[in-house]
Amino acid sequence: MYEKEKIEIVEYGKKLITDRLTTGTSGNISIYDPEKKLMLISPSGIGYFDTKPEDIVVMDLDGNVVEGDKKPSSEHGLHAAMYKSKPKARATVHTHSMYCTVLSVLGEPIRAAHYVVADAGVTCVPCAKYETYGTMELANAAVKAMGESDAVLLANHGMVAVGKSLKSAYGLAAGMEYCAEVYYRALCTNKTPNILSDDEMRKVIEKFKGYGQVKTKA
Ligand code: 13P
Ligand code: ZN
Repeated sequence: MYEKEKIEIVEYGKKLITDRLTTGTSGNISIYDPEKKLMLISPSGIGYFDTKPEDIVVMDLDGNVVEGDKKPSSEHGLHAAMYKSKPKARATVHTHSMYCTVLSVLGEPIRAAHYVVADAGVTCVPCAKYETYGTMELANAAVKAMGESDAVLLANHGMVAVGKSLKSAYGLAAGMEYCAEVYYRALCTNKTPNILSDDEMRKVIEKFKGYGQVKTKA
């Protein structure tokens, strides 16, 4: 079942390490099948370069394992909460990327120091309240803080991003790390960063809908 998707999760897991978006076994990845209401999720505590497609666990959104002999990611409840609360989400990427984590330790959201924050569909990426990893309390805190956002910081922990595909969720995770780094580095100077206004950010959110090779009506 889901051979292609399992391979994709393994490949993007390795990319998390090579792109320096997470270290060791931190972070996790899932893909959601809305037809069968099943998600495929990375196994718990296995290095990304040691993970094989058959280690990916198939689960329902109530925490039951449908296929796989490995223990699923400890954050399966967090991933399931994303699919339950975000009908368009088809993939979730959770990382402990450095600058997102630094802001999360400060309880600071990713403010719009850079316009790419708009990629999350909001003017500012919120930071959820601290809860213990792998708990439903953490999943609930993330959903609550997120609102309409496709990304959220987890206090003293890391970041979560969702997307319409794994490529898109991964791209958002990478983009949020870039924005967090820019914001953090700007905060480290003796000047105060200029933050883009909500009006400007709403303009960018609209403009992003037509960004790139999106087909335009003639
Ligand atoms: P898993 O190895 O269980 O996926 O946990 C990593 C993690 O980031 C927990 O928050
Ligand atoms: Zn984590």
